[in-house]
Amino acid sequence: MLRFRRKTVLAMLYAIISDIHGNLEALTRTLEEIDGAGVDKIICLGDIVGYGANPNECVETVQDRCELSLVGNHDSAACGTTEPTSFNPMARDAVLWTRRMLTEENTQYLQNLPSSSEVENFLIVHGAISHPDRYVHTPYDAYNELKLLEEKDTCFFGHTHVMGYFVLKEEKVDNFTDLELYIEPDAKYFINPGSVGQPRDRNPKASFLFFDGENKHVKFVRLDYDIPNAQRKILDAGLDQRLATRLGYGI
Ligand code: ZN
Repeated sequence: MLRFRRKTVLAMLYAIISDIHGNLEALTRTLEEIDGAGVDKIICLGDIVGYGANPNECVETVQDRCELSLVGNHDSAACGTTEPTSFNPMARDAVLWTRRMLTEENTQYLQNLPSSSEVENFLIVHGAISHPDRYVHTPYDAYNELKLLEEKDTCFFGHTHVMGYFVLKEEKVDNFTDLELYIEPDAKYFINPGSVGQPRDRNPKASFLFFDGENKHVKFVRLDYDIPNAQRKILDAGLDQRLATRLGYGI
């Protein structure tokens, strides 16, 4: 597990990405945008593979470009750490296809990723602090997680494929989807960059965020990318056509 040393590495500009799901077109476009922003470190919250047609390329790109990646539930199933027994049939078929496609090296890379980590003064998880596969959709879900933050004030999470954030202030949790926020000292934050490769907030644009550790500033970014090409590859691979269709709607 990689941990930054607090004294030497403070106040960096991070790009935080999540839920790429084998979508190389979306990942490539996202990294182009990140490269234009002078980012110090890229962090991935997991689900590099599953659903999309380019699992190996996405694993190799994350390995090459990201300072740290977590393992997601699809990554765990694709590399054989878990069996996809709780997946719906469409997701299960896709993850078993991914398992067959992954090279030995890429399978091993996924097997060795951590499920959560601390970076500088914030926490990162795939789904939730209480369990890596738990979905945080509602203020109630978020309240329980935010109470687990203790001395930290911010946690970044993925898994739902829905960008936005929850704020705990004076025992009340609110949910926001505006594109910018500043971390305030008297509140705690649970922040989701959304999904690079399979957004589900009815906006098909790739989603990620920048986090400026010095100014405590978070900026969400949505990007057009080559959806038709990603869809064509899914169909050419013989994967379920609904996996291609949903990319066009952001569902
Ligand atoms: Zn996912």
